[in-house]
Amino acid sequence: MPKIHYKSVEEIELIRESSLLVSKTLGEIAKVIRPGIKTIELDKLAETFIRDSGGVPAFLNYHGFPYSLCISMNDQVVHGFPGQHVLTEGDVVSVDCGVILNKYFGDSAFTFAIGEISDTAKNLMRVTRECLDLGVEKAVAGMRIGDIGYAVQEHAEKHGYGVVKELVGHGVGLELHEKPEVPNYGKRGAGVKLEEGMVIAIEPMINAGKARVKFWDDGWTVSTIDGKPSAHYEHTVAIRKGQPDILSTFSYVDNVLKEKNNN
Ligand code: MG
Ligand code: MG
Repeated sequence: MPKIHYKSVEEIELIRESSLLVSKTLGEIAKVIRPGIKTIELDKLAETFIRDSGGVPAFLNYHGFPYSLCISMNDQVVHGFPGQHVLTEGDVVSVDCGVILNKYFGDSAFTFAIGEISDTAKNLMRVTRECLDLGVEKAVAGMRIGDIGYAVQEHAEKHGYGVVKELVGHGVGLELHEKPEVPNYGKRGAGVKLEEGMVIAIEPMINAGKARVKFWDDGWTVSTIDGKPSAHYEHTVAIRKGQPDILSTFSYVDNVLKEKNNN
């Protein structure tokens, strides 16, 4: 069994650099994502931006994954392939990005609305982002992994949404996926104790309908069993001075989207 790797302050700062590059990459995606763009164009843009910034796209060739981004539309939950698909008004698109910079990984995901989307989709996105915030709040020394999962699950299910159980968050560091697993469900006070120096990716995957998912024959894409939309937000978070220190940020994306809405 691999053990949890507790990070030094220096290592946390390196993971912050990696996570910031991920956040800036998502900010670049925010600038161009719109009806009419092909998802493969977003992938190319991300790869170029990451490499020009001195990083390496972490997902590219990861266990054979063929792209730099996971782009998962509508009923796709995670691990979707970018391709020739043209985004259209009403799509809900999760963009998940990872980089390696100075040997350390960063990991973050954001769900974008393409043009005007349904109220159902809007609510799902809002609640999923709230789930992430509530989960992050529990990333405090002395709490347990189950406290994070409980907070996410409780909020999602209160709104009648399905919490994906087959896929989970994870430790982040010199590997993209380290111990411990960080489920989006759980019991208060249960599971691995959260301690100083842990760095984890918290990533609620929340479905508008049923919780169950199916795995595609392409070996990667995961979608909802009932065809209803899914949303996904992710931050890389360190436990530092006992408190959650969010190493990735949505500020780049939020600023771009605010600007877009004003025009
Ligand atoms: Mg991710
Ligand atoms: Mg992740």
